Amino acid sequence: MLRKILIANRGEIAVRIIRACTEMGIRSVAIYSEADRFALHVKKADESYCIGSEPMAGYLNIYALVNLAAATGCDAIHPGYGFLSENTLFAKACKERGLIFIGPDAEVIHRMGDKTEARKAMVAAGIPVTPGSDGNLESVEDALEVAETIGYPIMLKATSGGGGRGIRRCDNADELQRNYSRVISEATKAFGSADVFLEKCIVNPKHIEVQVLADHHGNAIHLYERDCSIQRRNQKLIEIAPSPQLDEAQRQYIGGLAVIAAKSVGYTNAGTVEFLLDDNDRFYFMEMNTRVQVEHTITETVTGVDIVEEQIRIAAGLPLRFKQHEIVRRGYAIQFRVNAEDPKNSFLPSFGKITRYYAPGGPGVRTDTAIYTGYEIPPFYDSMVAKVIVNALTWEDAIQRGERALKDMGLFGIKTTIPYYLQILKHPEFRTACFNTGFVEKYSELINYSNKPRPEVLASVVAAAMASHTGL
Ligand code: ADP
Ligand code: ADP
Ligand code: MG
Repeated sequence: MLRKILIANRGEIAVRIIRACTEMGIRSVAIYSEADRFALHVKKADESYCIGSEPMAGYLNIYALVNLAAATGCDAIHPGYGFLSENTLFAKACKERGLIFIGPDAEVIHRMGDKTEARKAMVAAGIPVTPGSDGNLESVEDALEVAETIGYPIMLKATSGGGGRGIRRCDNADELQRNYSRVISEATKAFGSADVFLEKCIVNPKHIEVQVLADHHGNAIHLYERDCSIQRRNQKLIEIAPSPQLDEAQRQYIGGLAVIAAKSVGYTNAGTVEFLLDDNDRFYFMEMNTRVQVEHTITETVTGVDIVEEQIRIAAGLPLRFKQHEIVRRGYAIQFRVNAEDPKNSFLPSFGKITRYYAPGGPGVRTDTAIYTGYEIPPFYDSMVAKVIVNALTWEDAIQRGERALKDMGLFGIKTTIPYYLQILKHPEFRTACFNTGFVEKYSELINYSNKPRPEVLASVVAAAMASHTGL
């Protein structure tokens, strides 16, 4: 087993990985920028090292991180999600330094991180993919020609994109012409690559993804699917496991397909195969994420499998502990990404000091976060500040519990997406499990919730009334 792991990340996922290390008796090493000096992962790890004054540079400095891991006697690095998690050079640098990268081989990251290469690999494995360009587009003329043969609407996408960025829907040639250079410049800025491709736009699909685990001994299993259709601008907001919109036959089919996909590219460790499901019940491969995902929590909740622990065990060379038939699901889990954003103000980031925080509790509630009362959220990073995960035996009860947990949570000092989620939970189409990626845009009026006075305010009104009454 591994003895000491450097966690090349920050925020809630760093805390999540430290928790797994602690339970497994593994020492943890945290890194932090000046801006993160008071971050929770720094306090929770066994050792913490400052990696510079720049907010981002240190978290992305491959050689500094590899050197630090070696110098502190680590035998492995866990990259979390974002940052260097899907960086081929980082995985290679770890290996060259004799460190275990907790993830798949560099070659597999390289292949699956490139969306056009991944599509080619899936076509070769017999997995259905959306019709699209054969590879990267060479010019706007090339794009227009391919789009003409596929038919509009199309999606123009950054080949090395992620996090919902570098994607534009184009409904006609005019829009494609306009968006072509935009997506290229977005991709260059965000991902350091100008490569773009296009594929058919599936109108209002469901986003269904499958969690897979594969070891170094040829075993691969899936942990069933998640429904991440509740998105805004291609970014996930609420995730559900399993999908309340699939029947058992679809569930078995998509799980099997994901395992074939993983095996066909020699995948190891935890990964996610993302699919789109259209109105005719057809699944299309979309991309593979070669890392732990933000929403791994809900799969853990319904299967009881600790995905981060399994990642570490697989990286240590151990065989998978579970056979496919031993993976059982129980009930439904929902995850809410609590973002420091103001929904009423175009979801503008709302960073600042958390004046008061307490986690929701009670049965079937889990909170993954790195915030605490008095913590000042730095403006340099992701706006996601907490994940609230609830579970119950039925879909209806999971919704009720979600509502209760979100109301239970105390988070003051910043604006968050919580009041907006409470509106979504009330919506009949959400409640009857009938939604797709168009939900948020279609029901844009859900943003018009009222900012009700808090109980303290009402209490003072009552006190005043009582006082005037006794005065009579
Ligand atoms: P998930 O795929 O796990 O559901 P997201 O797509 O929301 O999660 O991404 C999680 C984090 O990782 C976000 O901060 C996002 O910006 C970042 N991220 C994802 N993919 C990339 C990428 N290709 N390059 C840079 N950052 C990425
Ligand atoms: P990222 O790497 O940023 O996660 P994805 O390729 O996974 O990018 O796409 C993100 C989201 O964009 C999907 O969940 C889906 O809502 C939307 N999307 C992507 N491709 C298509 C498509 N061909 N048709 C319709 N929607 C799409
Ligand atoms: Mg994706």
